[in-house]
Amino acid sequence: MPIEDWIARESASILPTYRRFPVMFVRGSGTSLWDAAGREYLDFVSGIGVVGLGHAHPRVTRAVTRQMERLTHTSNLFYTEPQIHLAERLSQISLRGRCFFANSGAEANEAAIKLARGWGRRRRNGAYKVITATDSFHGRTLATLAATGQPDKHAPFQPMPDGFVHVPFNDVGALERAIDDETAAVLLELIQGEAGVQEASSEYAAAARRLTTEAGALLIVDEVLTGLGRTGEFFAYQGYGIEPDAITLAKSLANGLPIGALVTGHHAGEALGPGEHATTFGGGPVVTAAALATLIAIDQEGLVTKAASAGEFLRSELESLVAKFPLFTEVRGRGLMLAVQFSEPLALKVAVSCLHKGVLVNNVRPDAIRLLPPLVVGKPEIERLVEVLAHAVKEVWAARESQGQRSADVG
Ligand SMILES: *Cc1c(COP(=O)(O)O)cnc(C)c1O
Repeated sequence: MPIEDWIARESASILPTYRRFPVMFVRGSGTSLWDAAGREYLDFVSGIGVVGLGHAHPRVTRAVTRQMERLTHTSNLFYTEPQIHLAERLSQISLRGRCFFANSGAEANEAAIKLARGWGRRRRNGAYKVITATDSFHGRTLATLAATGQPDKHAPFQPMPDGFVHVPFNDVGALERAIDDETAAVLLELIQGEAGVQEASSEYAAAARRLTTEAGALLIVDEVLTGLGRTGEFFAYQGYGIEPDAITLAKSLANGLPIGALVTGHHAGEALGPGEHATTFGGGPVVTAAALATLIAIDQEGLVTKAASAGEFLRSELESLVAKFPLFTEVRGRGLMLAVQFSEPLALKVAVSCLHKGVLVNNVRPDAIRLLPPLVVGKPEIERLVEVLAHAVKEVWAARESQGQRSADVG
């Protein structure tokens, strides 16, 4: 069936909340995806930073298949083995506290917000406010949307849940002024993904840690995208040399299966009690087995170190494009979480041009492209991406010039 027919059926049957590219994938392996016609695409999106191990990783497939054959679901009324194994391993490699498992990044952040309120009620005289940064992204449920520092996303759904305060990102003074007796927690992405890969300064991260400690409030780091090797560190907070009270994880945790996790340190783990939070599916045997397999694969394949060195190579190749093309103005990010800034809002056109050439990139902002390849990406794939990106930019730039020429002629 031609893609046009699928597009028509989709628009008749799916709520129109997504803007999609006109391509349908039927298969994936490693850094490649294939459409129904058998055309291969090189994937520098990874399902938005989800398939860190690459598509169809055999270890995850095996773990999921075996678990499916044994036990799929029992609910959290009972104990299941993979959930406990995963919690132990996650805690051990991060904050050495405890975990709550949810089904997505937004749900992990919902749990974090409830943890903050639980902390405020128990330990800070009923403090309930959560401070977040402008341009942040924490999810699309109402509370996580309220936490998200993007007023244009709030506008259609007012009124927002109460208790969220937004401060300018990377402004230590503003954060210091915002923290008061009602502050339960500060929730931050250390590298803002949706904002087009904007890094916190190390002074800002250190100040966030110091100011929350002084106030007795929690510092919660949203590592939904940055976690599990993406930035060339296992967790982004490690690259900043700080230890938060809690982190949230999701995207690449089970290499494509839906899971979210709130991981706490020792003290913050006391902030939620029996009956105060729950989910039917969260931490089920299949997704936790997949996550455990993912963590083992990251270790065995040395993917954190690989992401760091592949990221360095990708960055230097992108820097050379900045030197060559006036449309490119900057490269941002760490590890394999990088963005290229354009001088004009041509990111969609560049992404479409790359798609036509068989390479997937993410037009995260109107004027920026984000690159989130699987952590297993190699030098040949990076070279191909850079070649295609350069070609796409030349094409888009030439079209722009001739269009400018035409409108000048008309004028
Ligand atoms: C993607 C993302 C979320 C939301 O995750 P969902 O699984 O889409 O709910 C939250 N925070 C950050 C930093 C993200 O990148």
